[in-house]
Amino acid sequence: MTRPPTSEVAAALVAALRGETPAIICPTRCEPCMYDQHYTAPAPHPWAGPEDIEHARATGQPEPTGSCGCWCAQTETEQR
Ligand SMILES: [Zn+2]
Ligand SMILES: [Zn+2]
Repeated sequence: MTRPPTSEVAAALVAALRGETPAIICPTRCEPCMYDQHYTAPAPHPWAGPEDIEHARATGQPEPTGSCGCWCAQTETEQR
């Protein structure tokens, strides 16, 4: 790596190493966003879909939480 990770990434990595969070470093995006089916009007939404929650339950993992890391989940910087 040519550049050091940002403090945010480093914190996420440390948390993952401690087992506090899933070891996902890049911003987690929900399934529609991964398939470029973004919210046309940006709206905050969780990354985990019903299938993710069901899978977590089925495998005995804690329910996934957290917001989608996509631009279309962020409204603060967007114009209304
Ligand atoms: Zn999303
Ligand atoms: Zn999106």
